[in-house]
Order: sequence, then C-alpha cells, then structure tokens
Amino acid sequence: MENLTAQGNDEHLSQLRTHQPNVGWIEVIAGSMFSGKSEELIRRLRRAKIARQRVQVFKPHIDVRYSVDHIVSHSEMRHESKSIETAADILAAVAPETEVVGIDEGQFFDADLVRVANVLARRGVRVIIAGLDQDYTGTPFEPMPQLLAIAEYITKTHAICVRCGQPANYSQRIVERAERVAVGAADMYEARCRRCFVPHADTPTSHITEADD
Ligand code: ADP
Ligand code: ZN
Repeated sequence: MENLTAQGNDEHLSQLRTHQPNVGWIEVIAGSMFSGKSEELIRRLRRAKIARQRVQVFKPHIDVRYSVDHIVSHSEMRHESKSIETAADILAAVAPETEVVGIDEGQFFDADLVRVANVLARRGVRVIIAGLDQDYTGTPFEPMPQLLAIAEYITKTHAICVRCGQPANYSQRIVERAERVAVGAADMYEARCRRCFVPHADTPTSHITEADD
C-alpha cells in the first residue's frame, strides 16, 4: 500500500489528481506565527498554477495587515487573494471550473468553514487551508482543530524560537491586550518554544506551564 503521508510534498497529491479526476481532498497547514504557513500555501498554489490548474484564493476580511487583495508572508512572498467575511461566502464565490481553493488564516473564519471545506472537497476541489493551530495562550484555535480532524493531509510547520533557537510551536504575545484576536506581526508576537513560552499576564496559560521549573 502506498504511503499517503504528505509532509509539504504536493507532488504526490498532483499525481493523485491525474489518476483520479474529480476526486477532491483537504490539506491543512498548521503551526505558530512565523512558522512559514503562508509561504507553504503560496508555494503549493504557485505549483498548481504551473500545472495549469484553476486556482482561487481567499482570506478573512479581518486580516488586511499588508494587503487587501493578496496573501503576504512575513518573508514578503505574495499571492493574489479575495478578502471575504464568512466561510459561506467562499462557497458562493468559488467558480464551477475551479480545481484548487487556497484559504489563509483559517482560524479567523467561523465554524462553518468545516462544512464548506467538505462540500468543496466532495465536489472534486483540492482545498488547502493554512492557519494558526493555537492562540496566544496556547489554546487550540477553532475551527483549526476541527479542520485538522477532517483533513486528508496535514503539515505542521515550526518557527524558530527567538529566545533559544529551538523549533517554536507557540505565538507569544509581547504586548498587553486582552482580546483573543489582536491582528499583528513582529510588533505584537514572537515565536517561542515550549520552554520559552510564558503565560500571558491577563490570560494565564496554566495547562501548559504548570510543571515549569
Ligand atoms: P506564517 O504564515 O506561519 O506566519 P510566513 O510564511 O508568513 O509564516 O513567514 C515565514 C517567514 O517568516 C520565514 O521564512 C522567515 O523569513 C520569517 N521569520 C521571522 N521570524 C521568524 C522566526 N522566529 N522563525 C522562523 N521564521 C521567521
Ligand atoms: Zn526557546
């Protein structure tokens, strides 16, 4: 039996499409801030376009940090995208001939993104969703956990801990803000590993740091 595990390796997925037309699936790229989720999403989308597949890309309206009509990575890679309010708007905006749908910042969409991703995949679309798997307190960030559960293929990306250089799995908020969602980049967050991640002053993260020495 062929190994279907895809670790950032979409060559195999492209082959699947060739062999079984009209079969869709869901790929999720999840990790902390600065872990390269957007870069990886853009890489896969560019390759799909080179393969002459019809691609549409969406991001949530809340995230217009660098651009309204592009996904922009922290390394300045960019790809055209459409800003959209709700997951249901994605369904309405996907053209019948679209073969690949890319979605960035999946954690900022509503819970309905799970249904929308399933509908598109069943219709034969390759759905690629990138998003933060945890918020700044280390709590799973819905609907990413649900998307990870239904995805055929999962890629976990890691940043580099700015304190010690180890692989980082957490997004440390470095300013005092009480809201769960406070959109920002290096001015507000930094990548940290488990040892260097510290509970936030106004939202203790005791489930992660209890055994801290
Ligand atoms: P994400 O979408 O996961 O936030 P991006 O794809 O936007 O990540 O950005 C990844 C890029 O961010 C890296 O290639 C690197 O240039 C830059 N970067 C800045 N800080 C870090 C860090 N602490 N660890 C890794 N990459 C970092
Ligand atoms: Zn560290």
